[in-house]
This record gives sequence, structure tokens and C-alpha cells, in this order.
Amino acid sequence: MRKIFLGPPGSGKGTAASRIAPKFNVPHISTGDLFRHNITEETQIGLEAKDYMKRGELVPDEIVIGMLKERIQEDDCQEGFILDGFPRTIPQAEQLAKLTDMDLVINMDVSDEIVIKRLSSRVTCENCGEIFNLVGLIPKNEGECDKCQGKLIRRPDDEPEVIQNRLNMYKEQTAPLINFYKNKNLVKDVTCTNINQTAEETVQSVLNAIENFTSEIKETLETPNNN
Ligand code: ADP
Repeated sequence: MRKIFLGPPGSGKGTAASRIAPKFNVPHISTGDLFRHNITEETQIGLEAKDYMKRGELVPDEIVIGMLKERIQEDDCQEGFILDGFPRTIPQAEQLAKLTDMDLVINMDVSDEIVIKRLSSRVTCENCGEIFNLVGLIPKNEGECDKCQGKLIRRPDDEPEVIQNRLNMYKEQTAPLINFYKNKNLVKDVTCTNINQTAEETVQSVLNAIENFTSEIKETLETPNNN
């Protein structure tokens, strides 16, 4: 099971991936989280990525591809993984195709209006990375993570001017991947038009899309070819 969760920042792909991966017993691999970890640990990758991330720009392909390649070779990835935030450019997708086949791309289709509202009220646990916001994902106690009671902070790239930059990057560089994967018949759209949709509802929509895709594939394989 190797799936990609694709979508603009704030579309809910990280939240959905973190909740769905354990159901399939595979790791949730977020390149954003890997970079943030590298920045905290002050590694070479962290040093190289830091300024791009601060500005809301994409980290150069060679850095992210090298990091991802190493990660998916680890033991816990043998049965598959969910990729969140990778690939983000056509060259990244082409490199990924050389490493492994993917079986489904979930395209989280959410309007700019909703993502801006979510991101501008988003806070992240400084300890475990869990995400909260004031529309649909409200923490039980203000300023405190529901999962580990860590402190909730605003990510530096969730400042308003950086949010717009990240959305522009998504449209220019990442959105073309939707057609790249549609041409391979790998995409299921999960559309959210309701600003108050909860994380649980989003997770359920993604699970439904995975189930529908799996039964469609099964049907195609079982249908006799009359040609
Ligand atoms: P979001 O999807 O909310 O923007 P992420 O945590 O996925 O958040 O990414 C945060 C930042 O990390 C991005 O703005 C970018 O600078 C960097 N990044 C993450 N994944 C990639 C990638 N695949 N390619 C290039 N840069 C990336």
C-alpha cells in the first residue's frame, strides 16, 4: 500500500495521513515534518532547508529527493507508506516513479478561502507535531496539545504573508501533479466545501475514497476483456 496525499497547504492532508496510516499499519511520511526535525537537530539538511521554508518556498528537488529516498528504504516502509507533502514538483514525481510504484493519489480539493481560514488560525504542537485550528480542529484546552499536552505554537510559515506564498507555490509547482497522476488513472478527488467540516469527517471522506478506488480496481480486474 503506497499512497500519496496531495493538496494545498491547509487542505487537511497531514491530519488525514497521520490518522489513516496507523489503520493500514504503515508509516506516515511527511517531508515537511522530516525537514522540521532536521532543523531542530541542526543537521546539514536542516541548515539547507531552513531559509526556503521560512519564506514559504519549496526546498530544492535534489535535497528533498535524497531525504525521501533514504526514508523509504527504512525497515518500517517494507509494507508501504503514505506520503504527505511529497512529491511537490513534476521532477520529484518522476524520481519517485523510478524508486517505486504508487497505487493511489488522494487529491484533497479545498478552496483558497477555506485553506486561508484554517492556516491563519493553525497551531502545531511543538513536541509531537499534532495540528489544531479554530475551524473544525479545536484543541480541548487552549494552547495545549490533546495528544501529549505539549505547548501549541504557530509555525513560522503560518504567518499571513508566507501563507500566500505557499499557496502560490502550490498552484505553480504542485497542482500540475494532479494531471500527471490523472493520466495514470491513479487519482481520487476528495472535495471539501464546508469550512466547518471536522477532521473526523475529512478522514472518513478519505477512507471512503480509498475504499471506492480499491473496489473499482477490483471490478476492472474481474471484468472479462471482450476485445
Ligand atoms: P504545508 O503542506 O502545510 O505547506 P508541509 O509541512 O508539508 O506544510 O511543508 C512545509 C514546507 O516544507 C514547505 O513550504 C516547503 O518549504 C518544505 N517542503 C516540504 N515538502 C517538500 C517537498 N516535497 N519539496 C520541496 N519542499 C518541501
